[in-house]
Parts: sequence; C-alpha cells; structure tokens
Amino acid sequence: MLFVPWQYIADWKCNTCGLCCKAYSVVLNFQEWLKIVKNYGVETTVSGLNKLYLRRKSDGSCVFLYKMMDMHLCGLQHMKPAACKLWPFKILATPKFGYAKEALYHYGGKALYIYADSTCTGLVYGRPTWEFANQTLEEFIEIAIGIRSEQKRSKANVNFVQQYPSIRRLF
Ligand code: SF4
Ligand code: SF4
Repeated sequence: MLFVPWQYIADWKCNTCGLCCKAYSVVLNFQEWLKIVKNYGVETTVSGLNKLYLRRKSDGSCVFLYKMMDMHLCGLQHMKPAACKLWPFKILATPKFGYAKEALYHYGGKALYIYADSTCTGLVYGRPTWEFANQTLEEFIEIAIGIRSEQKRSKANVNFVQQYPSIRRLF
C-alpha cells in the first residue's frame, strides 16, 4: 500500500465501496472489544498475537459489513472502532512515510503529519479544497486525539440509512 501526503489530496468522501471493510482486519482496543462483546457476543471478535480483532466472514469481509442495493454499510455505526473511523487517514507525530513538507499539518500549535492510504477509492487527488483541509481533516484529527467521537464528515453521507435507522438492527 502507498501512503499519500494530504497536500496531494483535493477531497475525500466515502462512496461505500466496502473495500476497506473487506481487505483489512480491524484491531480493537480493550474498551471497544468489551462494548462489542457485551452487545453482540464474543463470537463477533477474535484474538491473536496479543491483539483483539473484529471477526471476518469466510469471504474476508468484516462480520458487521452488509450490503444494501449497491452500498456497503456498517452495522456497527454507534460503536464503530476508532480504526474504522480514522480510515483511510494516518495522523502521526512524525513523518513516517516521507514527504514531510507535504504531509505537515498544523493543529492547535502542534505539527502533525497526515497521510492517506491510496487504496481508498474515495480519494480525489489534486490541490486540497478548503473544506477538506479545514473541516474534514480537522474532524479526523479530533477523532484521532480523542476529543471527538461523533462522525459528521468522516463517514459516508448515506441519507437512506439516516431515514431508515431500523436497518442498523440487522446485526
Ligand atoms: S473509506 Fe474508502 S475504501 Fe472504505 S468504503 Fe469508503 S470509499 Fe471505500
Ligand atoms: S466495523 Fe463497520 S466500518 Fe469497521 S470494518 Fe466492520 S463494517 Fe467496516
């Protein structure tokens, strides 16, 4: 996978392609694991190599992923793990993936380095729009540093799901 510094990204919007929920194992912290186990049972998780994960189905997709028409949706919206909320961005204290100048982002007087995983199909490359640079990335940062949990710009805008919340109870 290739990590692209944020200054090469014009915008990002999740298009519900579902790729990220099929290609990766989701690591859980203990609190996330506990909450999910209490609500959905221990069988929705697995452990391995000192880490806790969401279980994957036989096709490799997350146990909470479901498809509605051509959209791939998350059945764990109200307790979605931080790893899922932050995808496809990496918000780091050091320029781990190079291009330090292009990855540099100033937030609250601190220097951060932001990259996106290029496998996400919701990335649009080019000069960053004001909204992306100032609102979308700020929301990801606030989730990463733990001062925000609610997602507004950092998830798919699926009005259908908002109109029919009962579909969340499929899981
Ligand atoms: S975050 Fe990216 S890869 Fe994941 S579902 Fe949305 S567009 Fe697809
Ligand atoms: S918890 Fe939701 S967002 Fe995370 S991998 Fe599973 S379906 Fe995707």
